[in-house]
Amino acid sequence: MSDCIFCKIITGDIPSKHVYHDDQVTAFRDLNPAAPTHILIVPNKHIDSINTLTNEDEQLIGHLFTTAKQIAAQEGIAENGYRLIINTGAHAGQTVFHIHLHLLGGAPMRLMG
Ligand code: AMP
Repeated sequence: MSDCIFCKIITGDIPSKHVYHDDQVTAFRDLNPAAPTHILIVPNKHIDSINTLTNEDEQLIGHLFTTAKQIAAQEGIAENGYRLIINTGAHAGQTVFHIHLHLLGGAPMRLMG
């Protein structure tokens, strides 16, 4: 999508702190980190939110999570633990309407908030 920030990060038209890229997903560091490690993992295909997922996207979403697991290990946070979050819609605080998995770790976190 031409006006999507994350699509532009995927194509390199907007700079980011790149972490990982393959033919299905891209990962980069969050601009405003909420934890010592805060990485966003996004599908290369534009999908607005979980609300617009289709059955065809099931393998892609699975790959999003296995990539998160791999990056957590690379970042050295797998053993102590990390949080994976997908915000969906306004009430959940979704501000960028291109599905993204937040990978947060590097310090203990409260259960909510
Ligand atoms: P959400 O609130 O779940 O939609 O999360 C959007 C996230 O994208 C926020 O944590 C922002 O800090 C992050 N973000 C917005 N623009 C950029 C950018 N250009 N590069 C990296 N992260 C960004």
